[in-house]
Amino acid sequence: MDKLYAPWRDQYVMSHTKNDYSGACVFCTLFNKQESDEERYILYKDAMVAVILNLYPYNAGHLLVVPQNHVENLYELSDELLSRMIKISAVSTQIVKQALACQAINFGANFGRIAGAGIPEHVHLHIVPRYSGDTGFFTVIGDAKPISIDLNSVYKKMKPYFKEISL
Ligand SMILES: [Zn+2]
Repeated sequence: MDKLYAPWRDQYVMSHTKNDYSGACVFCTLFNKQESDEERYILYKDAMVAVILNLYPYNAGHLLVVPQNHVENLYELSDELLSRMIKISAVSTQIVKQALACQAINFGANFGRIAGAGIPEHVHLHIVPRYSGDTGFFTVIGDAKPISIDLNSVYKKMKPYFKEISL
């Protein structure tokens, strides 16, 4: 699991956070934007939880499961919201297997900046599809590697599956 975290991304995410959102929470800003789900790369959302494509992914199909509540810690969420997040995470892992034919999945979270969280102020869970031979992304610590991913095509592949789900 330690190879999942890529510290160089933190700087990247935060530079964009500052430029684009004037220090406001990236997720809350995204949820409040008057744009289509597709423009915001939101694959699923209900009153409690959203599943979005990570704009700075470790891999194609890197998803974030984000509660609508702006809280920093998992333990601040209600039991109902926690179980909702795990349920939608479980469904999402099934979808990345089906939609992207990945061979394995990393699932987890970073709490706090020194743990690698890019947006530590708003708790979220990561789902990272893994493919045979993709380990090159994770082996060089402290050095940015270009990851060429067409977010729009990944979104289009996954969205139909998320339309089907009912929780
Ligand atoms: Zn927030």
